[in-house]
Amino acid sequence: MTTLNTVRATCCSCGASFERVVVGSTYVHGPPDLDLREGPLARDCHRYLVAPCEWCGFPAAEEDEDEPEDLRRRLGTAHRELPACGAADVEWAALKRRGQIERGVGRDEEAGTMLLSAAWCADDARDDHEATRLRLDAAEAFSAAIEAGGHDEDQPGACFVRLADVLRRAGVWDGAAEATTLGLAEGPDPFVAALLRFERELIEKRGRGAHSLGEVEASGLL
Ligand SMILES: [Zn+2]
Repeated sequence: MTTLNTVRATCCSCGASFERVVVGSTYVHGPPDLDLREGPLARDCHRYLVAPCEWCGFPAAEEDEDEPEDLRRRLGTAHRELPACGAADVEWAALKRRGQIERGVGRDEEAGTMLLSAAWCADDARDDHEATRLRLDAAEAFSAAIEAGGHDEDQPGACFVRLADVLRRAGVWDGAAEATTLGLAEGPDPFVAALLRFERELIEKRGRGAHSLGEVEASGLL
């Protein structure tokens, strides 16, 4: 079960105050996917990551309220520099736009998370073409974050699991395989190494489907 709350937010772009829905609490049953999409019951929470300002369309995130004024201003500017939002936009338009805004202010990890969340919405709508395009954009953002030094020091190789999964599900086989090689070269712990080897098996089989961390535990690779 997921509970939703309504909160008031202040737009980073136009300064207007508006109401938005946020996730209050949720239960998760089962392991997440390899790209960290949450397990059953919490699988749809990413839909509430952003909500468009009802006045200017700025895709507001819950964390915006606590961000420093300088970042809020830069996010607002990046929004206004993008083409105007179309009236016929798809359901995941706000997540995609937020991803583009995050790229605009150089927050590549956040950009990748938003673009991947948009891809999950496209998955659910069975729009494979758009899901693939969004994954390509997400992979570009995650790669930029890794290049800029966005490694998790405590978990060597972990950042390459999601990158490999995003590329695999977009059908970029060589890039996905390379990500697993780079991840394994970092000397990961047995769990991360098993995830990377599981990804590699899926890549060799040219499998583009979603798989969960639970399958890795059952695979005997651990
Ligand atoms: Zn606004």
